[in-house]
Amino acid sequence: MIQENSSFPPVGNGLTDLFSRSISYLRLSLTDRCNLKCMYCVTEDESAGCLSKLQHNELLTYEELLRVVRVAVAMGITKVRLTGGEPLVRRNVMDFIRELTRIEGLGDVRITTNGVLLAQHAQELLDAGVTKVNISLDSLLPKRVAEITGADCFDAVWRGIETVLDLGFSPVKLNMVAMRHINDDEILDFARMSQRLPLQVRFIEFMPIGASSRWNADTYISSDEIMARIATLGELIPLEKGRNDGPAKVFRLGADAAGSLGFISPLSHHFCNRCNRLRLTSAGALRSCLLHDEEVDLRSVLRNQPTYESIREAMLTAIRNKPRGHQLEERMQRTGSDCHGRMSRIGG
Ligand code: SAM
Repeated sequence: MIQENSSFPPVGNGLTDLFSRSISYLRLSLTDRCNLKCMYCVTEDESAGCLSKLQHNELLTYEELLRVVRVAVAMGITKVRLTGGEPLVRRNVMDFIRELTRIEGLGDVRITTNGVLLAQHAQELLDAGVTKVNISLDSLLPKRVAEITGADCFDAVWRGIETVLDLGFSPVKLNMVAMRHINDDEILDFARMSQRLPLQVRFIEFMPIGASSRWNADTYISSDEIMARIATLGELIPLEKGRNDGPAKVFRLGADAAGSLGFISPLSHHFCNRCNRLRLTSAGALRSCLLHDEEVDLRSVLRNQPTYESIREAMLTAIRNKPRGHQLEERMQRTGSDCHGRMSRIGG
């Protein structure tokens, strides 16, 4: 069995892929389960109730996840994000998070959540050292939130947002997937919110993910269009990129704004050349690109030969396989198909 202490020998000063990108960020999808069924995330079959969820033994156990992260940190990973599915619905998740944040050398653990259970977990997250949170919210209208997510959850999510702001989490980012004819009439309201509240409102381009994604060229809105609309409200002042900004281009709407605006443009302005990410799906597969279906089966390694060397080798294989770019448009034109992975398994 693998050593269980947290101080594996470091293997150099970090990880670099074939295109000289430094890989320092691991995203863990803790579960494919979610308490919401967002219209852009689940497939039509899933929203009709035909949910093919992973069986319990198909998910990586917390011990397996910790083992992977210890190896990853020894190899040069410095930042981990917990996502899913909805990470906060997994049983005993706070015990896991406490163990995770104790891993030596891992200074940065973040979470992406739909916010429904955030108010009740916020203090525990803070106590465990997780103070950076992304919350998904696609509308400020409770009825519309219910239509998009399939659940009457606006009040709970809003309580979550208020709670983390009161507790001093920073940064707090709100992810809004802008979709034409669905919620694009609220883009300006979201932008104004960033003037009032100390959070970053991030507009994410709708991506064609999932076998029967509802994405289509009409629903998609580019970041350029969103920015042009927001520019009618006032000056968009570019902010210097901070280490918490990831792939977002960040602006302040007017000099006095309490918060900021982020624009994430996976389709219109690729950030593949700066991508520093590796993902571990809830089924235990390593994936080096959100939009490329190629994966390395780490679960088999963990269950058959869980040595430091074999886990490390699997990670290196995934990194070697990391494509230069997602080339989604080219693939869609060539084959008519998008990326087939499920967002809930891959971890958005
Ligand atoms: N349950 C958590 C949540 O809601 O934040 C984490 C998982 S969710 C898959 C992570 C993020 O992916 C959310 O912000 C969601 O809006 C985004 N997302 C899901 N499907 C998307 C798509 N097709 N295009 C763009 N963003 C998407």
